[in-house]
Amino acid sequence: MTDNSIPKKICRLCGEVKPLTDFSKNKRTSDGRTNRCKSCDVEVQQVSAQHAIHMPEKYLNDSLERDIYGARILLTILGYDVNGDVHAQFMERMRKRKG
Ligand SMILES: [Zn+2]
Repeated sequence: MTDNSIPKKICRLCGEVKPLTDFSKNKRTSDGRTNRCKSCDVEVQQVSAQHAIHMPEKYLNDSLERDIYGARILLTILGYDVNGDVHAQFMERMRKRKG
């Protein structure tokens, strides 16, 4: 059985195709929904809050080794290219931060 009648869209963050109802409403987008799904929204809010305080280097390194879902989201938010050498990008940023 297919459910092609249900409007769907792809989440820009996790890349999963989900029903439109899984996306929060947003007047600024053409389809009236945000570009990331509700579960990603929650993750974004959580990691944003963490990052606002301080992102522990250990957390990042541990996450990268396990390549966990949350880490990819976190890194995407922070502007990393998750398909590239993230650790090298991270080290470069730390160098700049410390001057
Ligand atoms: Zn998502």
